[in-house]
Amino acid sequence: SMASPALLMRVVASAYSVAEKAATIVRNVMSAGDLGIVEKAGPNDLQTKADRLVQMSICASLARKFPKVTIIGEEELPAGDVTEDLIEDGHCEEILKKPCPAQYTGIKEEELVIWVDPLDGTKEYTEGLLDHVTVLIGIAYGGKAIAGVINQPYYNYEAGANAVLGRTIWGVLGMGAFGFQLTEAPAGKHIVVTTRSHSSALVNECITALNPDHVIRVGGAGNKIIQLIEGKASAYVFASPGCKKWDTCAPEAILHAVGGKITDIRGNPFQYNKEVKHMNSAGVLATLRNYDYYASRIPNTVKESLVP
Ligand code: AMP
Ligand code: MG
Ligand code: MG
Repeated sequence: SMASPALLMRVVASAYSVAEKAATIVRNVMSAGDLGIVEKAGPNDLQTKADRLVQMSICASLARKFPKVTIIGEEELPAGDVTEDLIEDGHCEEILKKPCPAQYTGIKEEELVIWVDPLDGTKEYTEGLLDHVTVLIGIAYGGKAIAGVINQPYYNYEAGANAVLGRTIWGVLGMGAFGFQLTEAPAGKHIVVTTRSHSSALVNECITALNPDHVIRVGGAGNKIIQLIEGKASAYVFASPGCKKWDTCAPEAILHAVGGKITDIRGNPFQYNKEVKHMNSAGVLATLRNYDYYASRIPNTVKESLVP
């Protein structure tokens, strides 16, 4: 008989189903109408009932199947039992059938770190910009983002009643990324995607220095990586602290799986081992293609203002 699938593929296959359950919770909380908004650091740093329930669902579901994996979620929640209705125990059969890249077949549970952003784009969720929202499950090994799942619960929500609502994008380094159509941004045009709700003078100074043809301001780190891999934008530029490891881990794995590149504004790669500082203090620079073009045009004054 066939050997049982490698741990990494079992984790990704489970994370896929767990992210779909998460998306259902995100939609159900919104349609029930009571978001239960709590301010964390301030009015631009929010938590809703969906952030709380989804984190409980993802973390408890993955911890039950993979008890020795380190799971780090964005939200600080009181300890306690998670109700059974939040547990997802399924997995995506199609993912399980794919061969694990050779360099990852020997990974053990205690060597994996899973970074969870239960709801990325919370500010936009509360404002009804629903397609900005994603659920992010990033998988790291040896300090590197090696696999990720991005669910977009409201993908297609303006496409009419016949369109399928929501989608799940996933990827593994050395294997590729799936669940979307990889598309390059228009050649010769510089389209920058950046924050919508966390701008600053430095964020804008950096974008101005790049002299883009167009600037797209949308919420969510997951959403901005989707803009890159679907050819809507050529660079994600965010010259500010504020973005955290759970925002970048899943997007990084998927972007790198299709040949893109993400670093901080100074060009340093992100680390995802469990002891790492959560804040990406030196901002974000990401592209699908032509990383060097953008990196070489970030002003030194901007780089020097952002300390990793
Ligand atoms: P944005 O592009 O503004 O949606 O930010 C991407 C991710 O980083 C989201 O999860 C934000 O909540 C987070 N983020 C960025 N800047 C800040 C900030 N100044 N305060 C809190 N969270 C932030
Ligand atoms: Mg986030
Ligand atoms: Mg979040």
